[in-house]
Amino acid sequence: MTSGRAAKELGRGERVIPGVWRLRLPLPWPGVPHGNAWAVAAGDGVVLFDTGMHQPGSLAHLERAMDMVHLRLELVRQVVLTHAHVDHCGQTTPIVLRSGAEVWCHPDHEHLTKWLANPEGYWERRVEIALQSGVPEPVVRQASDQVRTEDIGIAGGLQVDHDLVDGVEIATDLGPFVAVETPGHAPSHVSLFNAERRMLISGDHLLGRVSLFFDFGYTPDPVGEFLESLNRVEDLDARLVLSGHGRTFTDVEGHIRANRELVADRLRATEEALAAGEPLTAVEIAPLVFGTEITAENGTWLLTEMLCFLRHLEVTGRVVKVDAEPDRFRLA
Ligand SMILES: [Zn+2]
Ligand SMILES: [Zn+2]
Repeated sequence: MTSGRAAKELGRGERVIPGVWRLRLPLPWPGVPHGNAWAVAAGDGVVLFDTGMHQPGSLAHLERAMDMVHLRLELVRQVVLTHAHVDHCGQTTPIVLRSGAEVWCHPDHEHLTKWLANPEGYWERRVEIALQSGVPEPVVRQASDQVRTEDIGIAGGLQVDHDLVDGVEIATDLGPFVAVETPGHAPSHVSLFNAERRMLISGDHLLGRVSLFFDFGYTPDPVGEFLESLNRVEDLDARLVLSGHGRTFTDVEGHIRANRELVADRLRATEEALAAGEPLTAVEIAPLVFGTEITAENGTWLLTEMLCFLRHLEVTGRVVKVDAEPDRFRLA
């Protein structure tokens, strides 16, 4: 679905440093109006890191952004995906059809490809999780009917030519970008580090604005993985970050710290909510942790995040699930 506001936004291109261009592409989401693809010069063409989401007219936005910096889709030799969320990989197939580019992505992209292969099964599983978490059935049904009418954001599925795993090098004119697995935000998340310029393409692992999201249900502890990924990125000592949304930034350490603090705050608030001793459902805990009512708009996002915090507290032995229907949690 395209909101009126998103319809007025246009794709825009700008040079970051010689040989590196930011392609800012519109998104239909109210809180996240743009996403970035990054083009980096490589021989007679470019490497494109991420693609933007597919929506009606979205390829024209990408072409417009590229045109502003004198690039063309036909110059794309490789599409390198930071992760398999549709706002990062949705236009992969249309780009490949135009350019013949090869596609790199981390192999743990089931969180997208399982859904594409069986959308009904995926939504049924989400409904089950919501009911187990204490969301009232009419609310679950309404949200699930709503979400099924929305654009899926990806055209032509996701066909990957090469696995983007730790240590893989993507050659560019600025030297190689080396893949560093940074799961947490998504199981397939990879960041790419260029040591020559100490430049990091961070996807959604590290954003200019601290904003947490974790895919729930694919790995044992997304929050733990995210914290570990922050450690990995900290060790790189990057000085310029090209992130999946928003402007580039240089205060890498400050952003890492802010992410750690937000996670720690949320975990502490979860434990405090349970300190009274009454076992609570994820739906009962979430407003106490996020300081906001859970609504149809924010529900899926906040509940997913809440489940990931509870999971982290469970696997680190601080919280236990009690035998109840729906699931309830108490301090260990
Ligand atoms: Zn993402
Ligand atoms: Zn994103």
